[in-house]
This record gives sequence, structure tokens and C-alpha cells, in this order.
Amino acid sequence: MRAEIMAVGTELLLGDILNTNAQFLAQELANLGIEVYYQTVVGDNPQRLKDTIYHAFSRADLIITTGGLGPTEDDLTKETAAEYFGVDLVLDERALGRIQKFFDRIGRKMTDNNIKQAMVPATNGIVLYNDNGSAPGIIIEKDGKTIVMLPGPPKETIPMFLNQVKPYLAEKQEYTFISRILRVANVGESAMAAQVKDIMDAQTNPTIAPYAKDGEAILRITAKAKDEAEANAMIDPVAAKLKERLGDTVYAEGETDMQTVVAEMLIAKKLTIATAESCTGGLVASKLIEYPGVSEVLLEGCVTYSNEAKMRRLGVKAETLEQFGAVSEETAREMAEGIAKTSGADIGIATTGIAGPGGGSEEKPVGLVYMGLYYKGRTFVKKCNFAGKRQAIRERAAYTALDWLRKAMLNEE
Ligand code: AMP
Ligand code: MG
Repeated sequence: MRAEIMAVGTELLLGDILNTNAQFLAQELANLGIEVYYQTVVGDNPQRLKDTIYHAFSRADLIITTGGLGPTEDDLTKETAAEYFGVDLVLDERALGRIQKFFDRIGRKMTDNNIKQAMVPATNGIVLYNDNGSAPGIIIEKDGKTIVMLPGPPKETIPMFLNQVKPYLAEKQEYTFISRILRVANVGESAMAAQVKDIMDAQTNPTIAPYAKDGEAILRITAKAKDEAEANAMIDPVAAKLKERLGDTVYAEGETDMQTVVAEMLIAKKLTIATAESCTGGLVASKLIEYPGVSEVLLEGCVTYSNEAKMRRLGVKAETLEQFGAVSEETAREMAEGIAKTSGADIGIATTGIAGPGGGSEEKPVGLVYMGLYYKGRTFVKKCNFAGKRQAIRERAAYTALDWLRKAMLNEE
């Protein structure tokens, strides 16, 4: 089955709204193993909408639209599709009743033009009742062509797709496609791909695809199988082989992030932590605090920005700052030890660096960050050079500090 995703709405063309429905549907269809060759966006204009539907059906068997099912004059998706298929629209009492109930629930009055939303195909149609809004979705199926029309607001589109359309499409598919992702920390996408190239090249099912997202390298393993259990059994050995090759740079599988993994490890190991941050300005602590329940292990986070604060709060020595500077291995070490000792935490983590844009020198360029890690009585220091603008440097530094801590906990055993 070959599909096309069509977003309807002039607001999308004007750039007022980001087409997140297309991204959602593209991912879902890929997981179902339905090929999508084109995505289109068309405004609320009957002629262009009609042209777009004709064009799409010249190259696809399935069109999934979002938007244009509203009550107003310019919401024309359903009317245009019905015209394409040559089917009449008739009033559906059940849909009308549900729209009435929806308005009662939100305490608003239904208007006459909402009746338009309760018009459904007289033949060849399936009505997708809407639990989160007024417009029902509609499927029209005729002569091997199918159009699935969904409402525009993502909070309606997504549940309607997942609960009603996905099972309908899965039924038509002989195979299911299941993916698993491996998250790789602090290795570039191309370096990661090079490391596993031979494994990747040797694989056809499951396939392995590398990509980068939010500054992380990711490997997606996708199996085509009869069912989920069979797919997982095919993915398991490939995932194991990749993890063996990439070692401890693979920090997690699936939907999670670095701070979640680190917070969970700290809690599992009952290790308390405190942070002393200069250039990251509290980002390390803030990331950890994203994890609910981190209060079990996070004792405190200090933003010790000035030399004075580093001395007073952390006990960094004046001579250290004078002789080596605030951005130095020695200062990072004393910061990490100082925060651990004064807070009584098992772990002290410190950052000090030059986030830019000013303040860099030949010897200490923008992007230079020293990190200190006090871990159960021992202190380690790490020197990093990050590229990018101020916020990117801060982000990378905080992420890298957490990853470093993760590896320390992992390799302790
Ligand atoms: P409509 O169903 O066309 O009246 O759309 C209603 C609202 O849904 C729009 O004003 C947007 O806020 C949202 N919306 C419509 N299409 C999309 C889309 N493709 N991606 C994300 N949001 C959308
Ligand atoms: Mg619209």
C-alpha cells in the first residue's frame, strides 16, 4: 500500500502552525510498513484541494488528510473528497448527537453550521467518532482507493488515528514493522555509523538505520515480521551485537533520555549527589530535577559563578584561582571535592568553562570546559572542548557531565 499524507489548512501554508500531524502520521505509517512517497500541504481552497486529491490519487492508493473538517465555509475536505468519489453526503443522527453532547460537555452552544460536521457519506463510508472534539473523521473507500480524513487539532488527530485508523490499516497489512532504537551518547552519528558499518551492511531484515536527533546519535533497528513477538525475536540478537560493538556509549534503548537514565541509576545505587556549576549555570541540576523522585538522591545544586562564591561556598583556594584560573583542571577538582564535602553527598559534580561568546583566549578558547567528579572518595577531572554558541556549549557540557557520571557508575562494578 502506497500512501500520501495531506495536510489541509491555509494557516500551515502561512507558517502560523507547524505541520506536526505530518510528522506523527509519517512515523506511524512507517511503523505499519506503509510506504509514503509524498507529503503535501494545501490551503483551504476548493479548487486547489480538488487538484491535490486528484494528483495524489494518481500516485497513491491511500490518502490521509488532516484538517478542513471544521464547521465553517472554508472547511471543505470532506465535501471535496465526496465529490471525487461521487458519493452523496447525508446527515448521520448519531454523529449529530455526539456533536451536541460534546458542546454540552464544554458548556458551549452548538450552532447550525456544526450540522455540516455530522454529514457523512451515504455509501462507501466509515465514520470515525470523535471523543475529543466536534468533527468526526471519515473514511471513504472505493475502487481500490481510500481516503482517511482526520480533524486538524493534534489532540483529536492523534487519538483518532491510534484508536480507530491504525487498527483499520494494520488489518490491511500482511506484515507488521516494529522498531527499536539504541541511544548513543557523545559519539557523532557518522563515527557511530562507521563503527557498525559491517553489521549494518550485512543486515536486510531487520534493517539498521543511523540518524541524529537532539544532539544524540541513534540507531533504529526495524524488523518486518508477522507479529510483534516475531519482530522482537529478530531484533534482540541484532541489538545485542550492536551494543557489544558500541560498548558503554549505548546508554539506553527506546524513549528515554540521559537525565532519566542517570537519575534512575543514582536512585538504584542509593548514591547522593550535589552539583557545583559555573558555566552550566544549574543545567546539570535542572536536568536531574526533570526526573520526578530525584529528591531521594539530589541534595543540592549550587551555581557558583564568581571566584568569591567558589571560595566561600566550595572552599576553592585563592591560590588555585590565582595560579590556574577559574577555568582550570585544579579549580574543577576543588569545586567537585568542595561541594561533596560541604553537602555530605557521595558524589560531587562540577563544571567550569568558557561558554562565550566573549572571554576566550588562545590558551583557553570559547567552548573549553573542565569538569570535576568526586565519586566516593576519589576525584577525577575531565577537559572538554565544545563547539557552537553559548547555549549549545552549556547544553553539551551538562549532557556530557551526566554521561561521564553514568559511565563512572557503570564501570565501578
Ligand atoms: P481544522 O480542523 O482545519 O479547522 O484545524 C484546526 C486546528 O488544528 C488548526 O487551527 C491548527 O491549530 C491545528 N492543525 C491543523 N492542521 C494541523 C497540522 N497539520 N499539524 C498540526 N496542527 C494542525
Ligand atoms: Mg482548517
